[in-house]
Amino acid sequence: MDNNIEKLKQTVIRQVNAESSRLKELALMIHANPEHGLQEYKACEWLTQYLTERGFTVEGGLCDMPTAFRAVYGKGKPVIGLLAEYDALPGLGHACGHNLICTITVGAAVAAKAAVDQCGGSVIVIGTPAEENYGGKIVMARKGTFSDLDAAILVHPDVVDVAVVPAIACQQMNVEFFGKAAHASANPAAGINALDAMILSFNNINALRQHIRSTARIHGIITDGGQAANIVPDHSAGEFYVRATDDAYLDELIQKVLNCFISAGLATGARLEYKPDVLRYASMSSNMTLARLYVDNMKAIGRVVKLEESKIPLNAGSTDMGNVSKATAAIQPVLAIAPKGISLHSPEFAAAAASETGMTGMCDAAKAVAMTIVDLLSSTETMQKVREEFRQTKLQENK
Ligand SMILES: [Zn+2]
Ligand SMILES: [Zn+2]
Repeated sequence: MDNNIEKLKQTVIRQVNAESSRLKELALMIHANPEHGLQEYKACEWLTQYLTERGFTVEGGLCDMPTAFRAVYGKGKPVIGLLAEYDALPGLGHACGHNLICTITVGAAVAAKAAVDQCGGSVIVIGTPAEENYGGKIVMARKGTFSDLDAAILVHPDVVDVAVVPAIACQQMNVEFFGKAAHASANPAAGINALDAMILSFNNINALRQHIRSTARIHGIITDGGQAANIVPDHSAGEFYVRATDDAYLDELIQKVLNCFISAGLATGARLEYKPDVLRYASMSSNMTLARLYVDNMKAIGRVVKLEESKIPLNAGSTDMGNVSKATAAIQPVLAIAPKGISLHSPEFAAAAASETGMTGMCDAAKAVAMTIVDLLSSTETMQKVREEFRQTKLQENK
């Protein structure tokens, strides 16, 4: 390897080590003060304050979200975006480990200043609120927040170390049925049963489920099933998620699921109201060139990271990072902070997000991300390879 690149990588490693106690302090403070999506005021303030102290120019309140921000160091191209999440889960605190996502990001960004100073280009930290309950990045992607980035990186805590994991496309569907209330015993003939329409919808979906691709998912809940057992329910409501590995199949499925609701409405006489939810999670298109750089840099600091998780059997959720990956070359590696068998969104995982293993993982990941920025800013050829792969992937996906 080029001697200068190697020296610069050693510098950024030292820099993360020098910042490590501050980063741990930040991670634990955010962990001890969990805030729900779009309410992450403390985390946002602490992170932006830290970045300001370290010479970043901060702009808050991005895309009409008070807890979204941008912090810039350097000028011009290439522009490397490091994404930060800091929202917690109701009742469970930081059970998804987002307190570590943001500290990995700010730690890597501060360390990568050395690369910007030496090679040019810029590093931008983008604070993206409400991953769990809203999909902040979907809104931001729609407003073009990620379009001028040459690469975007976010590392997510998990129970394994893998650079590329699948995330599938997901559309939320909210439906309501409107019927007619009547006494359920004295005058049922006068009623139109909105709950029956919802139950038939579930049965229709269950029949459909046998004949969809094994990688697709349909699941939902009833959020209103009536008020009293002696009244024919005049209103019912449900919330459903439809997921598929690609957008075209997702569109096809949404239409089929919609037919399940329409036919249930016809059968019962209840009127269907369906508002297509504006938020749609895209599938994750990981940039393999970026992923390989991350794996090699982790290896250089003594941490073994698998390049890719096998896609079969599909064991995947959805993330708003998918929407970022359609706007620029992106990766979302996962980082082991807890033993296998522990589930994300559990009290055990929340404990892991404040553990020594969690803190070690955070520093390792911050180093590997900063070293990856060294690779990108120091070599036009490497940067070009990342851009070209993104262009090719996009062409393939739009075919
Ligand atoms: Zn989560
Ligand atoms: Zn998460």
